[in-house]
Parts: sequence; C-alpha cells; structure tokens
Amino acid sequence: MFLAEDFVLKSETRNSQSEILMLKFQNTLSGKIEEFQPIRQGEVRFYYCGPTVWDYGHVGNFRSAVAADIVRRYLEFKGYKVTHVMNITDVEDRIIAKSQEAGLSIDDYTAKYIEALWEDADALGLKRPDIVPRATRHISEMVNLIERLLANDHAYKSDGSIYYRISSFPEYGKLSKINFAGNIVGGSERVDTDKYEKEDARDFALWKEPANETEPGWDSAIGRGRPGWHIECSAMSMKYLGETFDIHAGGIDLVFPHHENEIAQSEGATGKQFVNYWLHFEHLKVEGETMSKSKGNYYTLRDLTAKGHSPRGIRYFLLSVPYSKQLNLTFDALRGAEKTVEGLRDFHARLSEARTEPGSNDSLHQATERALQEFEEGMDDNLNTSVALAAIHDLTRHVNTALARKKLGAENKRELLELFSRFDLVLNIFGEDPAESLDNEIQTLIDERQEARRRRDFGRADELRDVLVQRGIVLEDTKDGVRWKRR
Ligand code: AMP
Ligand code: ZN
Repeated sequence: MFLAEDFVLKSETRNSQSEILMLKFQNTLSGKIEEFQPIRQGEVRFYYCGPTVWDYGHVGNFRSAVAADIVRRYLEFKGYKVTHVMNITDVEDRIIAKSQEAGLSIDDYTAKYIEALWEDADALGLKRPDIVPRATRHISEMVNLIERLLANDHAYKSDGSIYYRISSFPEYGKLSKINFAGNIVGGSERVDTDKYEKEDARDFALWKEPANETEPGWDSAIGRGRPGWHIECSAMSMKYLGETFDIHAGGIDLVFPHHENEIAQSEGATGKQFVNYWLHFEHLKVEGETMSKSKGNYYTLRDLTAKGHSPRGIRYFLLSVPYSKQLNLTFDALRGAEKTVEGLRDFHARLSEARTEPGSNDSLHQATERALQEFEEGMDDNLNTSVALAAIHDLTRHVNTALARKKLGAENKRELLELFSRFDLVLNIFGEDPAESLDNEIQTLIDERQEARRRRDFGRADELRDVLVQRGIVLEDTKDGVRWKRR
C-alpha cells in the first residue's frame, strides 16, 4: 500500500544526498565502487570484448553481451552520447584448427558464425555496437603496435615469434591483483601453443610465427605470422576510442590474463593510462555448474529457442540479476522469467487500452514518480537491475489497483506510458518482439520467392533462396506450402 508519507521522506533523503543520483560503477582496477566521470563531458567511449566466432554463441556469452547492452543503454538513458565498440575475434587457435578441419579459409569458416551472431543479437534485442572491428581486418594496426613495443624494449623476438617482456612493466598485475612474485604463468594463451624460448615463463606472445606451411599467416614488417590473442583488443580499442578511454568491459574470465595483458601492451606503448573504468560481468552457470560441452550442460541461444524458450524471456532472464552477481540458469527459472515478462507486457497492453477519467489521480502520480526514482537509484548503483525491476513491479501493482477501482486519470495514463517507454530504452522488453520482426522479414523473402516462381522467374527465385540459405534458413516444400526453419 502506497503512503504519501513515504514519498515525502524519500524525497527528503534524496535531496540531502544528491550524490545518490550519480552513476557508480564497481571498477576492477581500483577494486572500489566509484562515481563515473567521463573524460569528455557528455560522451562515453566504451569497449566490450566480444565473441570468438569459432562456433555459435552460448548463453553465457549472451549474458555478458546483454550486460554490455545494458551498460550502453543506461549510459544513453543518462544522456551520454556513447561510442560502443565490440570486437570480433576471428583468428585464434580454435578457429584455425576448425577451419582446417572443414577445408575452408578462415573467412569462409567464420562467415556462418558471424551471421549467426547478428541473428542471435537481434533476437535478444541487443543494440548494434557503433563499430565492430574484426581482428583479421586490423593486422597492420597490430603490427604497428608491436613495432612500438619492440622499439621501447617491452617486446622481444625469439625465433620467428615476438613476446611481451613482462619484467619491463612493473605495474603488471594491477588489474587482477595477482601477486606475480611466485611462478604464476602470466601470459598463457587460451591454448598455450607457445613453443619457442621465452625469457620468462610469464611472457606472452604478441606475434606467432606459423608452426608449419599450412598454418595461416600474414606477411608483415615484423615477419610472417599471426597475432596473439591479446594484441587485437589493444590495437582496435585505441584505434577507435583513443589511447585513453572511459570504459572497458567483458566477462570476469577476461580479467586475467587478457585484460591484464591489454593494459601491459597499451600502457607499455603509450605511457598513458589505457582505461579509466574496467567492468567485469560475472558468469552464467547452469544448474550451479560451469557450462561445458563434455558435461552436457552447454546451451547456445539456438538450443534454448529450439526447446521453445522465447528470446524475450531469455533476455529478461539474463538481465534480471545484476551483472555483478553470478546468474544460475535453471529451466524453472527461465520459465519463471518468461511468465514474468509476458505478464509485464500484458499489463502494458492493458494500460495502453485502458479507459481513463479526466485529470490525475494524485497517489498514482506519486507512485509513478517514485518508480522512476527507484529505477534510477537502482541502476545508478552499479547497474542493479533487480532493484530497477522491483521498482517497475511495484508500480504495476499500484496501477492495477487504480485500474480495478477505475481511478486511472488521463494524465496518469500519459505519464505512465511515457515512463514505460523510458524504462524500455534500457530494458527493451516492452516493444515489438525483435524475433517476430525478424521472422516477418524472412516470411517476406519466402513470399517474394514464391511469387517469382509463379512468374517463372527462376533466376530471381534462386537468388532469394541463396539469401535465405545464407541467413541459415532451411526451406521445405509441403502440400500446405513452404515451411521454413533455422538451421
Ligand atoms: P568468447 O567468445 O569466449 O571470446 O567470449 C565472449 C564474451 O563472453 C567474453 O566477454 C567472455 O568473458 C564472455 N563469457 C564467456 N563465458 C561466459 C559465461 N559463462 N558467462 C558470462 N560471460 C561469459
Ligand atoms: Zn578483448
């Protein structure tokens, strides 16, 4: 039950502690919750370590991708102009091995997974990053950066490969807070294939000479080879966002060694602070366990939709727990999330169609203002989405009471719908289902192809079939017409 006194108390608290309205982040670098201050007023430069396109994205990857989407959307909600960069890692050991197994070039092998990535991202309602650099398209930027590191002794050649000299960067470890006095190996790749002599076991590869004739490589001023995994993010983030930028994010697994190595590479080359705020998203687990193919608890987004789960329900599930906490995927919880988000959408539809009385219901007006305040306080607190969602659920209860009593003022309805549109700038759960709009697009292509066949324009029909095949759509002619499904 809403009491006017509550509101008065709250607003006094808020006024006396105006810093409460400041956006705060848990910064891995300082280990503290910090107020966010961008380098340039009103602008945020934001880099998210995106996927390695060796396979379809799994639901854990999408937990981080949704978290990055929320970071970007909330910054925009706060009025910042955001430049959001997400890299695609399209060359590394697994990709090389898989493409060779399939007898394909790296580009041909990864094309399918990049296409799938955008389908999945659209289905989940992720805003497209402004810039999506691919590693294979930035080899010369990486080579330049490695040349700078060689020139100032942060890197050395050994046989045909090039390594980062960790002993040259005394601040190594400042992000992960790992004490390197012991013999922890700092530079191991995901799959450590470094086989040449390193000065120090901790050193990591910047550039790898191909081990044999068949391994891919690029000819460059530093010899023929391919980049180590870490160098791409230093080179591409600094290219698009500058040598010092505001926010760098990724899953918690990347703190060490990936992000620690990015700092060593970038700061080693520029002598400037690389990133001001480092955000790390806790992992998604399945039934309390780490996801792995061998345990049989590994799910791509496609696996979940094939089981009948809706992308919207999955999005709601992934964002419902703050990024700073582990998220445990259980099928009960996922079904619960689907029910909740459908309930919210039904509520929104009922509100849109509700009859009103003239004027404004004052207690509802106050509940509306309070919901915005609580939503923002929750999100300002290191993006606490569960507090933000609780504010919305509270508000729906107030509105339902008003609807039941036929006490919805026209003014209330207007401000409520406006508020839900604002919430949706961040959450993106009330609007049109992106999967539905995608399905409509595919249906239009199929109809167009049928029409071309009727006209006996088989050239056009084949063209359209190719477009559909490229998008992973399988067509099936049945007696009731053409059916389609995703591969
Ligand atoms: P990858 O494709 O392995 O390069 O990962 C892409 C992004 O997903 C990175 O930001 C990872 O940190 C993140 N990630 C990987 N596994 C998980 C997981 N289980 N939960 C959340 N994020 C993850
Ligand atoms: Zn990265």
